[in-house]
Amino acid sequence: MSFAEYVWTLCQRALSPSGLPGLSYALNPYQGCEHGCLYCYSPSLLGDKALAQRWGSLIRVKENVAEKLQEDLRKKRRGQVGVGTVTDPYQPLEARLGLTRRCLELLSAYRFPVSIQTKSPLVLRDLDLLRQGRFDVGFTLTAVNESARSLEPKAPSPEARLQALESLASEGVETWIFLGPIIPFVNDDEANLSCIVKAAASTKSSLIYDRLRLHPGVLESLRVFLEEVKPSLAEQVPRLLSTRSAYWREVEGKIQKLCRWEGVRCEPAFPPRPRESKLLNY
Ligand code: SF4
Repeated sequence: MSFAEYVWTLCQRALSPSGLPGLSYALNPYQGCEHGCLYCYSPSLLGDKALAQRWGSLIRVKENVAEKLQEDLRKKRRGQVGVGTVTDPYQPLEARLGLTRRCLELLSAYRFPVSIQTKSPLVLRDLDLLRQGRFDVGFTLTAVNESARSLEPKAPSPEARLQALESLASEGVETWIFLGPIIPFVNDDEANLSCIVKAAASTKSSLIYDRLRLHPGVLESLRVFLEEVKPSLAEQVPRLLSTRSAYWREVEGKIQKLCRWEGVRCEPAFPPRPRESKLLNY
């Protein structure tokens, strides 16, 4: 049962410039996300105090997003659109409202290439559009063990995501897996990584991986969970996850080795740039 509050709101524009690798624009039909993952750093990017305080239970619905998207598409140069960069575009409310669906129809009509990221099998509803090409779909798979239930309390199960991934891939849709965020002692074990890499191999998906990003509020949100996994883990995590740490180098090496072994194309979510190791060293 859902206890989220939905607030209808108007947006000024639908497409915003994206700084994410490979994306020209970001499109998020909703602000806030009912999946309420403990590790989510979107609240810190949105600059909305109420949303951050009630992440997972307050959703703002951009009721005019499709109209604004049409205006944007008439004016903007064609470029890759990331759908769901700070929200899940297929969170539960989408089944009733179809805002994401309407946006995808427009993007398809204007021939913009689209990259969707989700945790929900609801994306299969839009298979008729996705089959037409110019769309790729990424599923986030964080953990296939019990940790997923605590970390992603209201998201569809990893099993459901894997099934949906297989369905899309078998229909010829280009698919990828987002493996992350990697959290020390939670989902960095060989069994978990190997299971997810094998899923990528069997569906011919590429794989993008990332470590936990410690944006403001993330460690606080995870603290109780981490302390239950291992006493003092919350204190150790920032050091373990710095880009130059031996721990992260080892985990990256493990993922890359598994991918080579399984013939999976993989890359980090944020490829290092010169001097970036300093900047990202939390
Ligand atoms: S599904 Fe994505 S956007 Fe939604 S809470 Fe989880 S990490 Fe954040």
